[in-house]
Amino acid sequence: QKFSTAAVLEEPITPPVQINYTKLLINGQFVDSASGKTFPTLDPRTGEVIAHVAEGDKEDINRAVSAARKAFDEGPWPKMSAYERSRIMLRFADLVEKNIKELAQLETWDNGKPYQQALTAELPMFVRLFHYYAGWADKIHGMTVPADGPHHVQTLHEPIGVAGQIIPWNFPLLMFAWKVGPALACGNTIVLKSAEQTPLTALYVAKLFHEAGLPEGVLNIVSGYGPTAGAALASHMDVDKIAFTGSTETGKIILELAAKSNLKPVTLELGGKSPFIICEDADIDRAVELAHFALFFNQGQCCCAGSRTFVHEKIHDEFIAKAKARALKRTVGDPFKKEIEQGPQIDSEQFQKVLGYIKSGIDSNATLECGGERFGSKGYFIQPTVFSNVKDNMLIAQDEIFGPVQSILKFKDIDEVIRRANATRYGLAAGVFTSNIDTANTMSRGLRAGTVWVNCFDVFDAGIPFGGYKMSGIGREKGAYSLNNYLQVKAVVSPLKNP
Ligand code: ADP
Repeated sequence: QKFSTAAVLEEPITPPVQINYTKLLINGQFVDSASGKTFPTLDPRTGEVIAHVAEGDKEDINRAVSAARKAFDEGPWPKMSAYERSRIMLRFADLVEKNIKELAQLETWDNGKPYQQALTAELPMFVRLFHYYAGWADKIHGMTVPADGPHHVQTLHEPIGVAGQIIPWNFPLLMFAWKVGPALACGNTIVLKSAEQTPLTALYVAKLFHEAGLPEGVLNIVSGYGPTAGAALASHMDVDKIAFTGSTETGKIILELAAKSNLKPVTLELGGKSPFIICEDADIDRAVELAHFALFFNQGQCCCAGSRTFVHEKIHDEFIAKAKARALKRTVGDPFKKEIEQGPQIDSEQFQKVLGYIKSGIDSNATLECGGERFGSKGYFIQPTVFSNVKDNMLIAQDEIFGPVQSILKFKDIDEVIRRANATRYGLAAGVFTSNIDTANTMSRGLRAGTVWVNCFDVFDAGIPFGGYKMSGIGREKGAYSLNNYLQVKAVVSPLKNP
């Protein structure tokens, strides 16, 4: 087989962006970690070190939580008018827009995603999310409630306090926005732990937030590892809420740490094994393209990736031929080059894990249509890989692969495919491709997933809630739904007339 981009990465392009922020951001200041330790963040194109970053641990989390606590208890942030908070968030969004190229370069360098994708999709979405949540800040309020007795009853919607937020490496900036936007709109203060693979952009944008007028201590960023810094945050007695995005395995640990410490409420956005169902009445060429996008987008590193492509038996063979041709055309290489659709996987651990799943697919007798190996000889690139003849019980149809591996399964009728699509421990998203409105309605009601995309995939407007059924998580992020994660409801009751 020949892949269209045969060019092996000889000379990786170095982006012109400077790396200025590598320390922890606590109480509005960049500081070294208490231990003085640092860790390297690597360029996934080569495995070489981009920068050494201060490594936060328990003591740094303690410092950051104290700063956030003080900023919450003493203000000014939660006591400021909501309009003023909103203005700071909007000024921040403007600064991000001004620095959009540098931020996209840094995101691509640290993560390996195509620069065009970072620049034209993710950064604009980041700005949009902050506009959206800035708009909510002064529209959050309680109710007056009719009572049976002679009482005046009102609810106050108050910020929950110090929010702990732990984010992953696949969309470092977007995950920052999904979490920080609603938390700040509601008047909370934050300690955010970025992923150890991608610490750079969170520090950069947090610096911009302070330039926009965010008071010190409101947003603290601790870079570091999960079992140390992350676990210290999740189990901290003075953190009032924890929000996590990452693997289901780690999500269980977070929930346990929260329960064992102070019972802080937890929202979790976890793994998935999302079905993408192509019905017999679908336009095949469009379906091939969309199914390809649903799986291969972001190097396959999406929790909602359409990683089980169910195809109706009538169009199955034609679909496979076209899906294979499309994968062979996928351009892989230096993500800074304009024509490149696919960069490297994030790190050697993920790279090995994905190759392991490919081997498991081959060993379990799925048909390898194309790909199956590393791409080039440097960094963490993997050939776009397509398997057909995948059966429901194979590991590649059960586990989250988180890589550029498409698994195609055959189905006969709607009830059968709904049942099979639901036969997974996950329930994050699903895609349905059909021109029949009845089929679309039946499927969107039958599929047990937090999002059903009909004739589209990966549509992520700021207002659309996102989250999982089953072991894909707890709670919803984005949209108005996310505000509830960061609010307490207080009922205030008083007699209508003093006795
Ligand atoms: P992945 O396997 O994709 O890296 P993880 O769930 O391990 O996903 O990581 C997501 C985030 O969770 C990262 O910021 C990581 O550092 C953090 N993390 C990992 N393990 C723990 C842990 N035991 N406690 C708290 N946070 C953790």
